[in-house]
Amino acid sequence: MKLRVLGCAGAEFPGFHPPGFLVDDMLLLDAGTIGAALNEVEQRQIRYIFVTHSHLDHVRGIPVLADNLVARNVRHTVHVAGCHDTIFALRSHLMNDVLWPDFNRLPTPQHPAIRYMELLPEQEVMVEGYAITPVPVTHTVPAVGYVVRKGGKGFFYTGDTGPTERMWAYVSGLDALIVEVSFPNDMEDVAITTGHLTPRLLAGELKKVAILPSRIFLTHPKPQYFAVIEAEVAALGIRGAELLRDGSRLEV
Ligand SMILES: [Zn+2]
Ligand SMILES: [Zn+2]
Repeated sequence: MKLRVLGCAGAEFPGFHPPGFLVDDMLLLDAGTIGAALNEVEQRQIRYIFVTHSHLDHVRGIPVLADNLVARNVRHTVHVAGCHDTIFALRSHLMNDVLWPDFNRLPTPQHPAIRYMELLPEQEVMVEGYAITPVPVTHTVPAVGYVVRKGGKGFFYTGDTGPTERMWAYVSGLDALIVEVSFPNDMEDVAITTGHLTPRLLAGELKKVAILPSRIFLTHPKPQYFAVIEAEVAALGIRGAELLRDGSRLEV
């Protein structure tokens, strides 16, 4: 699987955009960044978007993508997948014909730009040859991470999470882990309150994994603390850990 990092920051500044991980050009994990990174042809290749939770920095690319598709009058439907609370939030609070049009009915109800796909926690779905399992994590709103497997390879993407339990059993033995680290160590209280990790909290979490993936990619740092977080990760000596940047390309 080829991964293209459209954005991997926990806020927005020049060169730092919210999370979006494009798998093999057609499957997107979180939609914090789409239009700032992909041209029109690339946007139209997206077939599925798996959203971890309803927070704006993980979904805000979806309404704009839908508008771009309809503006060109291309008959292209993007499937937006997530667990019940997330899909409910998108329908009722974002593309609700108030903040933005309901692209689940546009351009026509028969051929909408967006179709919603409700997932059940820990129930694997197969799409386009990928086996994808949502696993609950710990955040301020209902949130999941995803196991993504194809062709004997597999990785886990956490989305946003604080210290958590269930997902670590799924991470064990995979090829790669993309895990959030939002705040530096001295902001541990803020991290816990807001459902995020620091380098030190992450090091503690990784002890819960029986067989650690050999590659660990870190996402969602607050750009204001990027250098501090990078230094703290290095000081902790987390084996195989690498802080991602927007535009990175990975192979799993
Ligand atoms: Zn969040
Ligand atoms: Zn976030």
